[in-house]
Amino acid sequence: MPYHPKIAPWPEEFTGLLPVSEVFYSQQGEGRFAGVPAVFIRLKYCNLGCSWCDTRFTWEEGKIEEGALFSASDLANLVTDQIALTQAKPKNVHVVLTGGEPMLHQDRLPALVDELGKYGFGFFEMETNGMFVPSLEMVERISWWNCSPKLTNNGLVREVNIVPEALHTIAATGHADFKFVVQSRSDFDEIARDFASLVSAESIILMPEGITPQSQLAVMPWLMEECSRRGYRFSPRLQVLAWGNQRGR
Ligand code: SF4
Repeated sequence: MPYHPKIAPWPEEFTGLLPVSEVFYSQQGEGRFAGVPAVFIRLKYCNLGCSWCDTRFTWEEGKIEEGALFSASDLANLVTDQIALTQAKPKNVHVVLTGGEPMLHQDRLPALVDELGKYGFGFFEMETNGMFVPSLEMVERISWWNCSPKLTNNGLVREVNIVPEALHTIAATGHADFKFVVQSRSDFDEIARDFASLVSAESIILMPEGITPQSQLAVMPWLMEECSRRGYRFSPRLQVLAWGNQRGR
């Protein structure tokens, strides 16, 4: 169910195809695997519509871009062709499924993972807002869940942002971090109240808000101190520090 008035409706039926926004090779910019070579597959559409979303081009009516529909095998070919332009080996490159909200397409993602596996890719990260209960097929295939439940600083109420069954299922995989972009100190109370009981403190990752290196650096000192105090992880957002949130990085 969409919650933002401008959210583009997603087709009910894609006849097995995946709506791709962009594919690019870089490094994972944040979270537990920050710095690891990674190819990003960004899928279109989102169910939520956060006020501060920086990928509105994947879901907002009037901003959503034309994008191709790919079969699993064609998309796996495209990804492999990008890596072939470099000296990287697929077995050392993480595949990051992102969006938008990629779990909207979870019925078609096991086939993509299986196709990519044929080319030697073996580590699959899922970037999700944690609002969809993963199927068994997904649980079996996703190597690591980067779950980013949204705080009410996204302009929506807690009852909209949180789907307890989905969060519990993702946490129960044992291969999940819950990561949050922190805007202010008041965010800590919400994180502690709603999420700290789901995963260990070591699997809670806080990241500084900010779409410029300067704004991120301004938040880092107090955020790192707070992570130390609470036993949480801290993560920079390397893509912002390096490129100021340019697309395709
Ligand atoms: S859930 Fe993610 S992609 Fe969707 S609107 Fe929020 S930040 Fe953007």
